[in-house]
Amino acid sequence: MAEESRLTLSVIKADIGGFVGHVSSHPDILDTAKDKLNHAKENGTIVDFHVLRCGDDLELILTHTKGCDNTEIHELAWNVFSVCTEVAKELKLYGAGQDILSDAFSGNIKGMGPGVAEMEFVERKSEPVVIFMADKTSPGAWNLPIYRIFADPFNTAGLIIDPKMCDGFSFRVLDVKEGRCITLSCPEEMHYLLALIGTSSRYIISSVYRKTDGEIAAVMSTQKLSFIAGKYVGKDDPVAVIRCQSGFPAVGEVMEPFSFPHLVEGWMRGSHSGPLMPVPFYEANPTRFDGPPRVISAGFQISNGRLIGPHDMFDDPSFDSTRRIANDISEYMRRHGPFQPHRLPEEELEYTTLPLVLEKLKDRFQKV
Ligand SMILES: [Mg+2]
Repeated sequence: MAEESRLTLSVIKADIGGFVGHVSSHPDILDTAKDKLNHAKENGTIVDFHVLRCGDDLELILTHTKGCDNTEIHELAWNVFSVCTEVAKELKLYGAGQDILSDAFSGNIKGMGPGVAEMEFVERKSEPVVIFMADKTSPGAWNLPIYRIFADPFNTAGLIIDPKMCDGFSFRVLDVKEGRCITLSCPEEMHYLLALIGTSSRYIISSVYRKTDGEIAAVMSTQKLSFIAGKYVGKDDPVAVIRCQSGFPAVGEVMEPFSFPHLVEGWMRGSHSGPLMPVPFYEANPTRFDGPPRVISAGFQISNGRLIGPHDMFDDPSFDSTRRIANDISEYMRRHGPFQPHRLPEEELEYTTLPLVLEKLKDRFQKV
C-alpha cells in the first residue's frame, strides 16, 4: 500500500479575539500561533504550516501524514487557539476566546467551536491548491462559486475540454436543519442540486469529488452549522480548500466565480445580506458596518508536504471592478437599514438577540 505517501491538508480556524472590535486579528496572536506551530514542525507532528488571518479569524494551514480527524492534529490546533486566547485576554481583544466553546480538548476539534476543512490525497507530480477564507459570512456563501467551479461549463472550460472532468463531479450537501446529508451527481442531477443549494442558509455543499475516480476535489468547513449536543451554535466564517489543474479545474477557473460579488448572509451582527468582496490579504479588514463580507484566497504549490507559497490570489487588478461593484451593492443594500432583504428574515435571526427584543413586546399584542 502507498498509504505512507498520503498527505493531509488541514485548514483549522477560529475567532479567538478581534482587534479592533471584529475588524482584524492582532499581530501578537499570529506570532504566537507561528511559534507554537514552528515547535510542532520541529518535533515532526506536522510537515509544514502557514498562518493567515481574514478579518478577525485566525487561520491555521497545516500539512501532515496523520489523516483527517486526527486527534493529535486537532489537539495541536486546539492548544494553539488556547494559547492565543490567553494572549487575546491579556490584550483584552474583543470576544477573546469566543470560538473556544469548551474548557478542555475532547478528542476532536469538530463541535468544539473552531471550523475545519481537511482533505487527504496522494500528492501529484504538481499539486496546486487554492484555499479560500471568508469573514462576516457563513458556509452557504461557497454554494454559488463551488457550483460554478465544478458544474458550470460557462465558468469551467475543463468540464468540456478535459476528458478527466467530462463525467463531472459529485457534491455532498449538508441539510443543516435536519442534520442529514445527500450526495448528488452532476451534470445529470444538476437541477436537483440547484433546487437544494439555492437555499444556501439550509443546504450547504460540504465536499466535492471527481466522478471518474472518486478523488477529493474540494472540501468546505461546515462544523458550526451542525447541532452540537442538541444546541445550534450559529453561523461560522467559512474556509474552502480546492485542488486545481490536471483533471481538476484550472486555477483561473477556480478564481473566476469570485468576480461576481454575490449576496451572502453575515455582515453586521451576522444578521444582514451583503456582497462577498474578494480582497488581497492586507485588505481583509471589514470596517464599514463590519463589512462588507470579505474573502481572501491563498494559493500554494505543495511539494513533498511543504507549502510553497502563499500567493495572494486576489491581489490582482482584474478583481478591481468586482470590488467596485461590491462597494456599489453595499451602498444600495445599506440604504435599506433595518429592512429586508438587507436585514435577514426573522427565522434567520432566531439565534441572535432579536428574540429578546420581541419578547419585550409580547404582552402588548392584542387579538384583531
Ligand atoms: Mg470572523
